[in-house]
Amino acid sequence: MDAHGSPPRLSAAFLSSGSRGNLTAVTCGDATVLIDVGVSAKEACRRMELAGIAPSGVRAILLTHEHVDHVSGVRVLARRLDVPVYASEGTLRAACGALRDVACTERLGVGSELAIAGMRIRAFRTEHDAAEPVGYRFSGPADDAVGIVSDTGVLTPAILEALHGCDIIGIECNHDPHMLAAGPYPGFLKRRIASVRGHLSNAAAAAAVEALMADTLHTLVALHLSEQNNTAALAREALERAVQRLGAATRVDVSSQREPLRCELP
Ligand SMILES: [Zn+2]
Ligand SMILES: [Zn+2]
Repeated sequence: MDAHGSPPRLSAAFLSSGSRGNLTAVTCGDATVLIDVGVSAKEACRRMELAGIAPSGVRAILLTHEHVDHVSGVRVLARRLDVPVYASEGTLRAACGALRDVACTERLGVGSELAIAGMRIRAFRTEHDAAEPVGYRFSGPADDAVGIVSDTGVLTPAILEALHGCDIIGIECNHDPHMLAAGPYPGFLKRRIASVRGHLSNAAAAAAVEALMADTLHTLVALHLSEQNNTAALAREALERAVQRLGAATRVDVSSQREPLRCELP
């Protein structure tokens, strides 16, 4: 409860986003849960402090999947903060090297719910070339919700359902399809990125905005932008155009590899 007796609202901080490292924080009161640690433990703490998040308030780390841009710093940070790491069974198995010596790892079943510090957290399956990748929906005590989906080739009906009614949604806007096609990547990599188990384009994210739109949707954040195949302006424009078409007042923001983006609810 805050000074006025109302339960705390959720906030989200996209501390680092992209193929050079991912780190997201969802905070409720003085408790924080981190999603992925794809930067060094030192850099993770520096970014939390830049965003006004106390590392001592971190209660748990959740992993989305085992790729190095999501797990490279998890071992050192989990040990330093002495917090448990939760992941799907497939991710725990595939990331066992990145998790060695971590005292507490917990399996989080897809679709099941976990309660941490007043937050209810549900993992939902995403479509990516990893063992058992997931996204997360957080529900807070003030009836608000934050949804995070990245590293998915497509948005399945189950993903859209999991994100519906959220107040803050972070959604992957990995590439602009034209930049990817014309860009420097070899053909196999272009095909992998654009595949149904690859990464979501600006256009695919924008096409889902109508399905994600609810009266509650306050902020929509573009995640995991490619530095070769996208620009912040293109991702913003794609999402803003979709929001404007619906006449919604939703705010659009773009996460970055270089600096934290903090999203608060009024
Ligand atoms: Zn990634
Ligand atoms: Zn990945």
